[in-house]
Amino acid sequence: MQSYAENLSLVRTDPLNTGAFRRSDDLADRLLRVTQSLQTTLDIPALLEIFYLQSNANVPLDGLEYVNEPLSFDYRIGNRSRHTCTYNLRLGDIDMGGLLFRRRSKFTESETIVLEKLLCCLLYPLRNTLMYRDALELAQKDALTGICNRAALDESLRAEVNLAGRHRTPLSVVVFDIDHFKAINDRYGHSQGDNAIKALVECAQHCARSTDMLFRYGGEEFVMLLRNTTLSGARLLADRIRRKVEKLECLGKRKPITMTVSAGVATLEGGESAQKLFERADAALYAAKNGGRNRVCVDEA
Ligand code: GH3
Ligand code: MG
Ligand code: MG
Repeated sequence: MQSYAENLSLVRTDPLNTGAFRRSDDLADRLLRVTQSLQTTLDIPALLEIFYLQSNANVPLDGLEYVNEPLSFDYRIGNRSRHTCTYNLRLGDIDMGGLLFRRRSKFTESETIVLEKLLCCLLYPLRNTLMYRDALELAQKDALTGICNRAALDESLRAEVNLAGRHRTPLSVVVFDIDHFKAINDRYGHSQGDNAIKALVECAQHCARSTDMLFRYGGEEFVMLLRNTTLSGARLLADRIRRKVEKLECLGKRKPITMTVSAGVATLEGGESAQKLFERADAALYAAKNGGRNRVCVDEA
């Protein structure tokens, strides 16, 4: 095990190969260049590509694999050759996953020493990249409910409209809003109101498919993006959510809190923009509110 700093460790997880140790005089210079090049990106695949190229320039490799199970990340470069040199990457308390070097021929001991020095160059840039990824994810999440927020919706809606246009698949949007929520807050207090919002999110998620995307658009207003879903399918889902919410009883201090929602539904028309699609669903929501609430209205375009 090679250690460059007190809180930094690489744990070798397969047995060391034996072989002659070959000292390279300019290794320190090369490692400095590796470190510099690894600091040029905060994108995990790009970082791994750079690391692979730099490692390959120092120790011939056939492939590399980086696995981070908590992030469901499994990234492979090159071939899945037989011989591996495998490490768990840790920095202090942070477990950063596992990295495998692959090659047709066995790694010598001197080569594994160089690989471990290269890995030491990777640890801090990888930690920074993972932290940056966490920060980006957090910026897209709603703190109360844990679902995606309005910033994420803006991005996803544009992406889904492009995708649906390219593949000519249906895309529907449901916008729903809690009815008279101000009165619920006034009556039960904001903290009970918060609990009601959380219960509503759980209920909506329970009604939806795994490919349906739920966003908190505003205080008590939510948006669902439904891939591969026609207008009638979206109307069915919106009405299923409406009926489930109507029966939902959230724990209140004295008696259970009940609520209803109104929803507007629209489906993407050929050549329509993301904004126009959203505006039509939102207009349908207002029609549902004006029509008496606790109902679903559809924009037929
Ligand atoms: P409508 O049926 O027309 O939608 O009536 P409404 O009372 O639901 O709508 P209005 O826009 O008048 O009020 C929305 C309320 O939602 C007011 C605001 O205090 C409350 N709200 C927004 N965000 C939150 C939140 O995070 N927690 C709680 N408890 N209340 C919130
Ligand atoms: Mg409301
Ligand atoms: Mg509202």
